[in-house]
Amino acid sequence: MNNFEYSRAADVADAVRQVATDPGARFIAGGTNLIDLMKYDVERPARLIDITHLPLKAIEETADGGLRVGALAPNSDLAYHPLIETRYPLLSSAILAGASAQLRNMASTGGNLLQRTRCFYFYDVATPCNKREPGSGCSAINGINRINAILGTSEACIATHPSDMCVALAALEAKVRVAGPSGERTIAFEDFHRLPGDTPDRDNNLAANEIVTAIELPPNGFAAHYSYLKIRDRLSYAFALVSVAAALELDGGRIKEARLALGGVAHKPWRNRNAEAALRGEVPDRAAFAKAAGLVLLDARGFSHNAFKIDLARRVIIRTLTQAANATPQIQSVKKIR
Ligand SMILES: Cc1cc2nc3c(=O)[nH]c(=O)nc-3n(C[C@H](O)[C@H](O)[C@H](O)COP(=O)(O)OP(=O)(O)OC[C@H]3O[C@@H](n4cnc5c(N)ncnc54)[C@H](O)[C@@H]3O)c2cc1C
Ligand code: SF4
Repeated sequence: MNNFEYSRAADVADAVRQVATDPGARFIAGGTNLIDLMKYDVERPARLIDITHLPLKAIEETADGGLRVGALAPNSDLAYHPLIETRYPLLSSAILAGASAQLRNMASTGGNLLQRTRCFYFYDVATPCNKREPGSGCSAINGINRINAILGTSEACIATHPSDMCVALAALEAKVRVAGPSGERTIAFEDFHRLPGDTPDRDNNLAANEIVTAIELPPNGFAAHYSYLKIRDRLSYAFALVSVAAALELDGGRIKEARLALGGVAHKPWRNRNAEAALRGEVPDRAAFAKAAGLVLLDARGFSHNAFKIDLARRVIIRTLTQAANATPQIQSVKKIR
């Protein structure tokens, strides 16, 4: 591990000031991803700016009837918060499908958004990887790519974003509040993470001198008809091969509003508005769900070891939408350990 300096941010303005004046600095929150990356020599920060003492842990109601979640709220606090459990159970369910109880206790909301891909080659510094070292090549395209993307890929990178929580946040149309040297701004969740294109080293649109301060949830949490279904190689402690967040609003036996987002298939949580539009006005049955799945996967492209994901995703979409329509959401098999 590389030597690095350590400092603690006194407040958000100080955090921004510190990161803006040191290009080699990184914020550290729960450390559950960053410290691993440092041990693997993938990240070599010159300075760690500890943000854990900033007052960004609150989960509070907003004037418009939504919720504001501080960037340092631990994943477990968020998943088990009464307002989240009752009004945004899709978010709670997605968080509980991820990692382990101990990790969720440490992991922060902001850090979850900014966690990096789990592509094997990204972690293996002996191999070429455009995300880690721009221009070096992509080892996954012709390598072991079982866990890699099938949608939105580029010739430069076929990595996926590994978060479960972010899939639910995409479906719920959350917003990301950030602060930087010129003040605060809000980024729509859909615009936060990026596709790889020819700059796969950039995971998201957060500037290097900005900090995530909060996530804003709109009033509609789709609490009556939702489901988060995650398919993985092991039942716990594994990242998604394919996951689906589905949320429906039903009215008079038809779909009034639909949200559909996928994890484990692309460089960002994958939301397809054409599929959502096709569901609106339909009777919530298998034919409508299969049509939506077809639209989501229209441009899907499999590689040597992950082509199976296309049919898997199709089936998971249909099943998750069926669970949502029937109000029988997927139960996450975790115990409450805090
Ligand atoms: C074994 C294992 C299994 C896991 N399984 C899953 C899983 O199944 N599903 C899942 O979703 N996740 C999983 N995770 C990932 C885990 O959820 C993330 O590591 C965690 O959410 C990161 O949060 P953190 O606070 O620890 O971030 P850190 O490690 O502290 O930081 C991660 C990155 O975010 C940046 N950062 C942190 N906070 C901010 C902020 N407020 N503003 C700007 N930048 C910030 C840091 O600079 C760093 O680059 C797993 C992790 C491990 C180790
Ligand atoms: S898929 Fe992306 S992260 Fe994985 S080896 Fe290729 S460039 Fe690196």
